[in-house]
Amino acid sequence: MTTIDTALAYRISAATGAIDHLMDGNQTLNQELIDAHKARKDEAQAIRDRIEKVRADFDPADPYRAAAKEQANDDLEVDDDAVVSPGDDPGAWVQAWIWIRNDEAGISEDDEDVCRTCGAEYEDGGDGFDGECPDCADKTDQKLNPENYVDEPFDDGYPANWTKDDG
Ligand SMILES: [Zn+2]
Repeated sequence: MTTIDTALAYRISAATGAIDHLMDGNQTLNQELIDAHKARKDEAQAIRDRIEKVRADFDPADPYRAAAKEQANDDLEVDDDAVVSPGDDPGAWVQAWIWIRNDEAGISEDDEDVCRTCGAEYEDGGDGFDGECPDCADKTDQKLNPENYVDEPFDDGYPANWTKDDG
């Protein structure tokens, strides 16, 4: 049994048990609960009946599915259990998968980003930051956080923030 079968069987048996229990008590008092459990039981039974009908109707050698499989290619696939639905015209609809590429779906295949400052392309996931290439991101960071760069030596070989007090 599949998980769905098990779940439905459990729900039906639980509802049956609850109904039996409530019928033993004050039925007038319990009528609302009895009706609720009956509704849940009927619902589960209807789903179970539907699944069983689909299974009973399933024909692994369905000629329509077989014909659809003949037409299958890299971009059109038909499952072994594809649903077949008879049409009004002579023929049947067969469930299939159609492959759609990113560009057909309007989804960009670019895995490169364009720097918002200099326009250069840089590798997605690289050292760029906040829409800028690594070079521009460094310059921006230097402008925004100059205190992080004061240790870089000037031509005299001393740090920019060097004072005599530092020794
Ligand atoms: Zn840049």
